[in-house]
Amino acid sequence: MSSTFVRGLKCRLCGQTYPISATNFCTEDFGPLEVDYDYEAIADALDRSKIELRPFNMWRYQELLPLDGEPTVGRQVGGTPLVRADRLARELGVDTLWIKNDAVNFPTLSFKDRVVAVALSKARELGLTTVGCASTGNLANSVAANAAAAGLESYILVPSDLERSKILGTSVFGAKVIGIRGTYDEVNRLCTQIAFKYGWGFVNINLRPFYAEGSKTFGFEMAEQLGWRTPRHVVCPMAGGSLIGKIQKAFNELHRIGSIEKPECKFYGAQPAGCNPISAMVKNGWDSHRPVRKPNTIAKSLAIGDPADGYFAAKVIRDSGGWAEDVTDREIAEAMALLGRTEGIFAETAGGVTIAVTQKLIEQGRIPRDEEIVVCITGNGLKTQDAVADCLEEPAVIAPSLEEFSGLLTEAASPVLV
Ligand SMILES: *Cc1c(COP(=O)(O)O)cnc(C)c1O
Ligand SMILES: [Zn+2]
Repeated sequence: MSSTFVRGLKCRLCGQTYPISATNFCTEDFGPLEVDYDYEAIADALDRSKIELRPFNMWRYQELLPLDGEPTVGRQVGGTPLVRADRLARELGVDTLWIKNDAVNFPTLSFKDRVVAVALSKARELGLTTVGCASTGNLANSVAANAAAAGLESYILVPSDLERSKILGTSVFGAKVIGIRGTYDEVNRLCTQIAFKYGWGFVNINLRPFYAEGSKTFGFEMAEQLGWRTPRHVVCPMAGGSLIGKIQKAFNELHRIGSIEKPECKFYGAQPAGCNPISAMVKNGWDSHRPVRKPNTIAKSLAIGDPADGYFAAKVIRDSGGWAEDVTDREIAEAMALLGRTEGIFAETAGGVTIAVTQKLIEQGRIPRDEEIVVCITGNGLKTQDAVADCLEEPAVIAPSLEEFSGLLTEAASPVLV
């Protein structure tokens, strides 16, 4: 159906075009390939009223995604809430704050279900039956679950020191999970060799041009949920650096097809201090990122030391007039607890990174207190519970007695206690 809207693949560096296939780099200069659309045809075929009549999931923007036919994997992904966060706003001292909450994305509770839905639907169109990924956790969960539901075989390679809950949450789907004694970047290199040797579809390697397009739906939804407009500021977590640029691309595409006014949005990137190649590049004014060889952070989902889209993420941030920051493990855990107690949202460590960085940027005066902010929450706290444990009070334990309970209340109310 949407095949008429895709022209092919195009190099992001030199513009060389290629036919659609499972490939991700330009043979001239090794630049990354991107899907090339016919926006005039899309503008003729798609408008707001047509989108609004469709089910509220990521496929309501189907013409702006690179499939030939209807999606066959992840048909219910997306359509997550945009939450007005007044209590958190008050705590941070700002007027208007929203949370785009992909902690409740279906089926594996992170925004990765969006990218995987596109990559695996495309893998099937290309006739692939074995798929896989290199992952810091959430992608592993999502590829395994969506491949299982689609009847595809999956090989998932992860750093062997990953959180146990993320490994269990992958194995349960019957995927072949392989722990690698190495960093994410070493895992990624191995996957590139495997994809090449066996001809499998690795979602974030040879299927990356299609995979990356799925992230746009996070931005499409954000603009539609704000009433077909863009916010002044977006704060986004960065691992490989893809999502942040795809939110901007989503806004630009909606404008290009006539659905929103020209976007005037500044983008801010958030990273953990223990793995901050992109934020360091922005803050220091470097031309390219310096890889972090040994990431060391509780935000494992963001621990990519040599980010594939680092250059483009920094460009989006700079060109939009935004900024980037990084925060310590302690700040991450405290921000997870802050989000929980103000908004009732349990985000994983990446969400702690994003909230803590938002707080920092507000305190630095980089984000003005009277302008609208959207914070991107991309994963669920139930997957990284241990990270926040030290910031929370242990529950009191008493006998099943009303007297002891009342004693507890008096104790809590007593001013002598600190
Ligand atoms: C993968 C991931 C990101 C970052 O995605 P990139 O597009 O690689 O920058 C952010 N948050 C969570 C929870 C993730 O799993
Ligand atoms: Zn090229």
